[in-house]
Amino acid sequence: MRLFLITTLSFLYIYSYSQNIADSTVAISYEIVEDTIAYDSMAYAISFNDRLEEFGYQNWQTNEVYYKHNEVLNTDDSIAITLVDSCKNECYSHPFQGAITSHFGYRRYRQHYGIDIDLITGDSVKVAFDGKVRVTKYTRGFGKLVVVRHKNGLETAYAHLSKILTDSNDCVKSGDIIGLGGNTGRSTGSHLHFEVRHLGRAMDPESIIDFDKAELLDDNILICDKNFDYLQRIANDKNAKFHYVKSGDNLSRIARRYKTRISKLCYYNGINQNAILQIGQKLRVR
Ligand SMILES: [Zn+2]
Repeated sequence: MRLFLITTLSFLYIYSYSQNIADSTVAISYEIVEDTIAYDSMAYAISFNDRLEEFGYQNWQTNEVYYKHNEVLNTDDSIAITLVDSCKNECYSHPFQGAITSHFGYRRYRQHYGIDIDLITGDSVKVAFDGKVRVTKYTRGFGKLVVVRHKNGLETAYAHLSKILTDSNDCVKSGDIIGLGGNTGRSTGSHLHFEVRHLGRAMDPESIIDFDKAELLDDNILICDKNFDYLQRIANDKNAKFHYVKSGDNLSRIARRYKTRISKLCYYNGINQNAILQIGQKLRVR
């Protein structure tokens, strides 16, 4: 047993030493190649890296705020994800328990990709699941931002921090403090903007977390197209076309002119078929 331990430890030492050398060589020639192993918890990091492909990730970029795909995603089937596996001692930690000041969703022609939690600058922000820190940077919108990729196939993002207390490529355990809450970036008032993403696409954090109880709704989830319906709406909005109501216009005439259906005009504009149109009214027709 003792011999086994010594052999294992010396192997780990040699391995980590050779990886360190390899890493410094890589760092000199290409700064972008960052899929390296964190040496403080190597076994964990190796198993983490092995599982990246299993969850559909193809690369590890510490500079891209959103993970970008090399190919078009096909989520016709729902994907089962185990958020925490208690047999493996995994757990969920609530990033910060505070009042929700803004939910995920569509507001005034803009999508809010996360949930806003009220806090006081300096409050500790915890990482939700075990994982590996991908991005630590300042952006104009997010302010000081941390993005962590998890073994459960999700990424979580923590924005507007006053201080970042972790680094890209760090391995983190659920509950580790990765930063302090703040008001940096495009933010009015101290709060945590928290996102949950699957393969780079934000999804409603409230579809997996009960923010009142500060716990997961379930240990397992199914992800399907429905989680990303809003993306279609954003794509549609980019192609939106408007019509200004003229004298003599009615819904069927406008529908014919734009080769669409009355029901669609009603849907786009939140009106019913008997709505009275006002001259000069702006109607979305596409
Ligand atoms: Zn927000």
